Amino acid sequence: MKSLNIGVLTSGGDSPGMNAAIRAIVRAGISYGHQMYAIYNGYRGLVSGQIEKVDRGFVSQIINKGGTILRSARLPEFIDVNIREEGVKQLKKFGINALVVIGGDGTYRGAKDLSDMGINCIGLPGTIDNDIACTDYTIGFDTCLNTIVNAVDKLRDTTFSHQRCSIIEVMGNRAGDLAIYAGLACGAELTISGDNFMPLQEMIERLKFQKATSKNHAMVIVSEKLFDLQELARFIQQQTGFEVRTEVLGRIQRGGSPSAFDRILASRMGEYAVQCLNEGKTSRCIGVRGQQLVDFDIYEALAMQRAKHTGIVNVIDRLK
Ligand code: ATP
Repeated sequence: MKSLNIGVLTSGGDSPGMNAAIRAIVRAGISYGHQMYAIYNGYRGLVSGQIEKVDRGFVSQIINKGGTILRSARLPEFIDVNIREEGVKQLKKFGINALVVIGGDGTYRGAKDLSDMGINCIGLPGTIDNDIACTDYTIGFDTCLNTIVNAVDKLRDTTFSHQRCSIIEVMGNRAGDLAIYAGLACGAELTISGDNFMPLQEMIERLKFQKATSKNHAMVIVSEKLFDLQELARFIQQQTGFEVRTEVLGRIQRGGSPSAFDRILASRMGEYAVQCLNEGKTSRCIGVRGQQLVDFDIYEALAMQRAKHTGIVNVIDRLK
C-alpha cells in the first residue's frame, strides 16, 4: 500500500459529529502510515493555504464536541475554475495527493470539480439535513433530530397548559426529513414538509377537528422555507379560533454534543474513507445503507434522487 499525504476539511453548514469524523480520518490515516494534513475553513482555507501537518494528538478530546475544530466556511467563488486552480496549487505545494471532504451536497459538488482537475477526493456526508441521496443517514442528523424532539417536548407542556396551537419551524433545507422524523417522534398533531405537504384548507379542517374533539391544543411542525410563518399563524388563528404561537428553532439545532449514533456513524465512515484510499479508490462518496457502509462514484452519487420517506409519512398519517 502506497503511503499518502491526506488532507481533511469540513465545509458548508457545520453538523454535530464532524469532529468525530475528523478524528477517525486522522487516526485511521496515521495507523495505516499516511501523513495527515488539516485544512482550515473549508474550500476558502484550501485556496488560501490554511494547511498544516497534524498528528494523532491533534484530534484528542474532540469526539464529544459539536461544531468542527477545522472550522467551516462558504466560498461561492469555488465554482470558478481559476479559484479552484489556486486550491490545486496549494495541495501540490504541500504534496497532498488525496483529500477527504466532510459536508453537504454543495461540498460534494466542489469535490467533483476538484476530481475533474485530477485531485482524488473522498466525500463524507456531514449535514444535519439528511438530504444526501447516496446515504440513509448523514452525520449530524440524529443529534439535530434529538435537539428538536427535546425542544418540542418542552413546548408541548406550555402549549397544552395554555390550550394553544404552536407552530414550530425546523431546519432541513426543503428535504423535510428533520420535520417528518420529529413529527413522528413528538406525536405532532400536524407535520408539514416537502414529502408530506398538505393544502392550507386541509390543515385548517384538521386543526378545527382537533379543537372541536379530543384536544384543545395542537403542535404543528413545519419545514423551513415552505411558509411565511407569521402569515400562516395569522391565518390559522383566524380560521380555527386557536391562539397561535410560532417558534423558529433556528441555529440551536446545529449545535451540541453529538449523539452516540452520530459519533459511531462518523467514526465508521471516517475509517472507511481511509480504507477506500488504501484500496486505491478514487473520487468516492461514502454512505450507509442499512448497517452496511457503501461507496459510490462521486458523479453517480450526485446524480442520485433522494428517496421519499413514504414509510414514515404513512405511519404519521395512520396515527393522526
Ligand atoms: P449544508 O447544505 O449542510 O449547508 P453544503 O456542503 O451543501 O452543506 P454549501 O454552502 O452548499 O453547503 O456548499 C459548501 C461549499 O461548497 C460552497 O461554499 C462552495 O465553496 C462549494 N460549492 C458549492 N456548490 C459548488 C459547485 N457547484 N461547484 C463548486 N463548488 C461548490
